[in-house]
Amino acid sequence: MKKITHLDQLNFDNRFVRELPADEEPLNTRRQVLGACYSRVLPTKVINPHCIIYAQEVADLLDLSPEVCASDDFTQVFAGNRLAQGMDAYATCYGGHQFGNWAGQLGDGRAINLGDVINQRGERWALQLKGAGATPYSRNSDGLAVLRSSVREFLCSEAMYHLGVPTTRALSLTLTGETVIRDMFYDGNPQAEFGAVVCRVAPSFTRFGHFQILAARSDTDLLKQLADYTIRTDFPELGEPSTAVYAQWFTEICRRTAEMIVHWQRVGFVHGVMNTDNMSILGLTIDYGPYGWLENYDPDWTPNTTDADERRYRFGNQPAIAFWNLVQLANALYPLIKRVEPLKAGLAVYNDTFEHAWQTMMAAKLGLSIFDEALCNELLKLLPIVETDMTIFFRQLASVNSHHSVSEAIEQLTDAYYVPEQLTVDYRNRLSHWLSLYSQSLKQQAVPDDVRRASMNAVNPKYVLRNYLAQLAIDDAEQGDFAKIHELLDLLRHPYEEQTNKQHFATKRPDWARQRAGCSMLSCSS
Ligand code: AMP
Ligand code: MG
Repeated sequence: MKKITHLDQLNFDNRFVRELPADEEPLNTRRQVLGACYSRVLPTKVINPHCIIYAQEVADLLDLSPEVCASDDFTQVFAGNRLAQGMDAYATCYGGHQFGNWAGQLGDGRAINLGDVINQRGERWALQLKGAGATPYSRNSDGLAVLRSSVREFLCSEAMYHLGVPTTRALSLTLTGETVIRDMFYDGNPQAEFGAVVCRVAPSFTRFGHFQILAARSDTDLLKQLADYTIRTDFPELGEPSTAVYAQWFTEICRRTAEMIVHWQRVGFVHGVMNTDNMSILGLTIDYGPYGWLENYDPDWTPNTTDADERRYRFGNQPAIAFWNLVQLANALYPLIKRVEPLKAGLAVYNDTFEHAWQTMMAAKLGLSIFDEALCNELLKLLPIVETDMTIFFRQLASVNSHHSVSEAIEQLTDAYYVPEQLTVDYRNRLSHWLSLYSQSLKQQAVPDDVRRASMNAVNPKYVLRNYLAQLAIDDAEQGDFAKIHELLDLLRHPYEEQTNKQHFATKRPDWARQRAGCSMLSCSS
């Protein structure tokens, strides 16, 4: 296929702005936007942009040649300094439940959409700049993003993609050359930080909250219009919108959301801010803010200090919160369907899909062809009792052979334990018992060890974006050294493969990272 050699050659089809009503007020002032799905708004120009990195795989989705990506024009366009031909910049209106409470209008407060590219394969890819300046939805904030959070969004979007988790993508990470003031821990210590912009890419960025805001305002006509638009654009396989199709559509959202959450639980990803405005209608992981990766397996862990008391968005609560969020979406779609049963049926599909996919996933993590409830439950009880690195544990479990003695098996797992003294005699006995049951299951299914190891290693990653690794890359970036960002992107392109000379990226969190900001504790400030 022919690559695009200039950004003005991109083929835009800006259906969202063409088919849905625009805010009539042209001024970029903060306000409630009624009777419209979006406001046209230009990105704020920046003085001295510098493209730190771009993802070749995402450029490929847009048919962009490496030369275009290396050009100054690419830097200018994806910093928001120039609109390429066919771009039509806008911010969308949505609402949401934040931490369980209805928050009213939120909207793209620091995201500016540039339009939808139709690539040479006929795929639709929406482009969105995050951190490109204020919009009518910025409320009392500046519309900007800082380097640390932009590095985290860029790397994690791509890491998740390569792990096989449904996600929005990241094309580029660009320094603006300007500073942004942030009070990282909301403790009265505002600091000047480097500003940055990420260009996100997804089939669409529509969220549960886009429908919620219209339902909350009793704007049923526009609710229907947006639902019809979304079904026709993002779910064409469902056919022409009708009451029955709305119900099928909701069911499909439930199904996709369940699949996404199972992936999060598989890789140990904690989103951190599962507000309904951060839930994609396509079942994609969206909005990489104070997310984190489980180091020691602890279902109660959340990286988000803003949520430290209630821990609403802790790892183990993600499946229940996704359900809660879907209930809010069901409420929002009720005016279109006007019956409760089809919505309840959709929610039941969430539960059934989750349960089935979760069991299949856990069986695969253990290398078993059939889910063994007792074996799985006992393991999930054992893991949090002593600090056990989730990623290392499952990766090492693949090396346990069916002919290993129990003590040899424990030997294989020692790398996963943070505090060896916690492995008391009692604990070892319990673990030994589990390992002998596990070994029996393996013998029963009679799959050769090397075949099982390969299948386990295809679902249990060796490399994830450990919280401290992202922070080390950020520390360097803040000193103007971007090498670690490049190195991490390269590494995380192949998370399931053993990579030579990369073992240091697969080791336990070092002790210094336990209590360091950015490593174990993050706030929403970004
Ligand atoms: P988040 O918690 O990042 O999902 O953001 C919640 C809402 O706040 C969304 O409507 C965002 O667009 C908005 N928001 C977050 N940060 C900023 C910012 N720096 N400037 C303007 N709006 C923001
Ligand atoms: Mg958000």
